Amino acid sequence: LPRPIEALQAALRETEPACAPAPGRAVVHWFRADLRQRDNRGLCAAGAAARAAGVPLIGLYIVSPQDWAAHAASAARVDFALRSVARLRGDLDALDIPLHVETVGARGDIPARVAGLARRWGAREVYANMEYEVDELRRDARVVRRCAGEGVRVRVLHDTCVVPPGELKTGAGGQYAVYTPWFRAWVARVNGDGEVLREAEGPGRNPGDARERLRDVWEGAGEVPEAPEGMRMDKDERERMRKMWPAGEAEAWRRLGKFCEERIGAYAEKRNFPAADGTSSLSVHLAAGTLSARAAVRAARECSGKKTDKVDVGPEGVKTWISEVAWRDFYRHVLVHWPYVCMNKPFKPEYANIEWSYDKSHLTAWQEGRTGFPIVDAAMRQAAGTGWMHNRCRMIVASFLAKDLLLDWRLGERWFMEHLIDGDFASNSGGWGFGASVGVDPQPYFRIFNPLLQSEKFDPDGEYIRKWVPELRDVEGKAIHDPYGRGKGALAKKMGYPEPIVSHKECRERALKAYKAALEQD
Ligand code: FAD
Repeated sequence: LPRPIEALQAALRETEPACAPAPGRAVVHWFRADLRQRDNRGLCAAGAAARAAGVPLIGLYIVSPQDWAAHAASAARVDFALRSVARLRGDLDALDIPLHVETVGARGDIPARVAGLARRWGAREVYANMEYEVDELRRDARVVRRCAGEGVRVRVLHDTCVVPPGELKTGAGGQYAVYTPWFRAWVARVNGDGEVLREAEGPGRNPGDARERLRDVWEGAGEVPEAPEGMRMDKDERERMRKMWPAGEAEAWRRLGKFCEERIGAYAEKRNFPAADGTSSLSVHLAAGTLSARAAVRAARECSGKKTDKVDVGPEGVKTWISEVAWRDFYRHVLVHWPYVCMNKPFKPEYANIEWSYDKSHLTAWQEGRTGFPIVDAAMRQAAGTGWMHNRCRMIVASFLAKDLLLDWRLGERWFMEHLIDGDFASNSGGWGFGASVGVDPQPYFRIFNPLLQSEKFDPDGEYIRKWVPELRDVEGKAIHDPYGRGKGALAKKMGYPEPIVSHKECRERALKAYKAALEQD
């Protein structure tokens, strides 16, 4: 079967001759997961096309609740996107560029709606940045054909990855399935071509008479709507989240600057300790596209203190952080090449033979942070309370769900999307594939995290646990990691903290057996 990206590429190729750019009355940039004006390749190209044709630029954003539902987007993520759209509108307004916000009931309506708006505005060119998720690629292929039918050319550019998918090949010409050699190729590509990290120019200001020429567009630009029914937080929750996660591009740059100034130097040492404020918390901005991954890498490189264009020289903290940002690219490359991996399928088919448990009480305990394993519970409560979870903890809770509880990893993957503010299809699917040992370049199945040892190693003083599990606040010393096993059961019980719902030792054996049996079936 052709990959979805090939379907889009074919649509772009086949429609190209049918719609050579004709001078229209405007050029459109359709914003999706690129809610920024700085360093935005599609927007930059749209701005250049508009200037070349002497016509104004119009921004478009389509609110499509069905697409959010299809990705199980959390209410916090939806709210963040809408707030970022409002900020973007303000930023574009200062450049006399209108941002039209359109809401569609059914996502199948999008191709006709884009074509209809282009026609109404007299635009002959629509620009966008590529989204690599399967449904989005298929949607874009339909948009390209529909618009071509009306003489409108759609251009879809690579933007979200530092190195676009498909550019890094193994010696045999295939896609890398292992991160380490892939990363070597990534570094070589970034170091070897100054264009890769080059900042895309801003869209520029619309011509002086644009407000007059686009009066209808300004007047019908539409309000940025409230989150759709069923995707709303209650008022208190919304205010809390908004305070914690200010939206928009300016905030992304503020966070990036502060991280590079204050914390990147110690990133390599601190990044695995959830109680330390050691990571950037930029994932929400990278997921919404209020910050480009190129900008993140450039900023890190610039604060390396060395006069170099290379991404693999300089302080450990800088190099390590850049290599983490690269993981985001890696999982997008995987998504494009093996789309089924992100469609609820294991990378290697034999892993489909695993007999998962569907124990409802275990799943509920995991979701509610009441497993009796303090590090797991702290992490799950952090996610529920903030919409974000530390990377080390994401690995711990993923391993716990799939290996200790032998619950189908897809249940955890979905819960993450439903609750995280930085829910990102490719990275989430990649992370779960790693933790449950079913993905591309996974943790070997026989490496099963011991939650107690993870807790002792990465939260040695129990600071993180005490913050998120208040029932254990008064448990002193090492007992915090395992109150029932270390003589503090009475105190934990009195405070209402549950006993462990399973025995790690027994579960480990059970998981090893289940994975082994699955592999032997093949
Ligand atoms: P930093 O440590 O500051 O890293 C900088 C950036 O690099 C991150 O913002 C992120 O964009 C990228 N990055 C870092 N680590 C990874 C990684 N392992 N995989 C992919 N990108 C990475 N990340 C998401 O953005 N959205 C998700 O839905 C998501 N789900 C995950 C699920 C599981 C089970 C696991 C193990 C990891 C998941 N990750 C996800 C990756 C990672 O945990 C987060 O990106 C990171 O914790 C975000 O915090 P930060 O911005 O402070 O990261």
